[in-house]
Amino acid sequence: SDAAGAPTLDDLPLRDGIRGEHPYGAPQLDVPVLLNVNENPHAPSPAVVADIASAVAEAAAGLNRYPDRDFLALRADFAAFLAQESGVQLGPEQIWAANGSNEVMLHVMQAFGGPGRTALSFAPTYSMYPEYARDSLTGWVAGRREDDFTLDVDHARAMIAEHRPSVVLLTSPNNPTGTALPLEVVDAVAEAVTDGVVVVDEAYAEFRRAGVPSALELLPRHGHLAVSRTMSKAFSLAGARVGYLAAAPAFVDALRIVRLPYHLSAVTQAVARAALRHSTELLGRVHELRGRRDETVEWLRGKGFDAPTSDANFVLFGRFADRHAVWRGMLERGVLIRETGPEGWLRVSVGTEEEMRAFRDALDEVHEEVP
Ligand code: PMP
Repeated sequence: SDAAGAPTLDDLPLRDGIRGEHPYGAPQLDVPVLLNVNENPHAPSPAVVADIASAVAEAAAGLNRYPDRDFLALRADFAAFLAQESGVQLGPEQIWAANGSNEVMLHVMQAFGGPGRTALSFAPTYSMYPEYARDSLTGWVAGRREDDFTLDVDHARAMIAEHRPSVVLLTSPNNPTGTALPLEVVDAVAEAVTDGVVVVDEAYAEFRRAGVPSALELLPRHGHLAVSRTMSKAFSLAGARVGYLAAAPAFVDALRIVRLPYHLSAVTQAVARAALRHSTELLGRVHELRGRRDETVEWLRGKGFDAPTSDANFVLFGRFADRHAVWRGMLERGVLIRETGPEGWLRVSVGTEEEMRAFRDALDEVHEEVP
């Protein structure tokens, strides 16, 4: 117990796997330049804000009722968006959504993972995946990516044969490296998984460069494949918490079994539908962000850093003997970046022109102090 007699965490009967754990999350600090969680630096325009606000007002008038549990209207809107964005035609019964793609992934793990089962991904990758596994009582195995952060198909096949995973998570473009996977690699992994499901996490897909296809194109070939997306990044809607997934109708039916009833509030549904009506405008800044990302990579390389080519809205760069000192030096100059990825690397999200100038200026200064 603490001094006031209240129980501490150690006094509570936490289950194995939770004891000693800490809540996930990057520091939320009040600094001028926020380049640490891959948000879109552009807030929705006043016109979009007005449309979202009136949609919320309409939803508010009916808040005495539970929301539409199956939200088929929103699912149809997502299908229409994906057809436009990737040229892949899907029906509403092939779409799922939840409070961020984090919750979508948890639904996948609750339906297909569980005790005695294993989830597999390839590191370095998104650091929440082991937590989804922990929270769904699923075993966790990480294979590796190559030194250039690509995925070797033979290694993936060997890991699948050895561990027989129930869930394989592929991330494309990958966080924190920005690396996109060729479709042949995704296809080969999907072929190799005979008694599990494969989810391609495409949280950053809208930022991929021209000519890089989405794994959505492979859905007709694989009933056990799903592609997850989010409104948090390209759509500038991280605060709304809306993620979604595309797969075969039966795959979606499996997720419907494990979701909590009415998990997607009427307000969330209204916000997402209003935003989707403005998808062209909301995604209009993606092109500009891609350009600034490529400029950032070039600038970093020009300074002698390693920076892998990125298909996302962030850039990994390094390597530093003491990355924490660099991270702290940047923070002292008002620029918050992310200390993540393999030892020696740091990650910066692509912000506005002014924010990237602040990033470059700060890094120039810090690099003189901390080589
Ligand atoms: N997948 C990846 C690879 C991510 O980087 C993130 C956010 N950092 C997410 C999923 C989750 O995003 P959200 O829950 O906001 O949709």
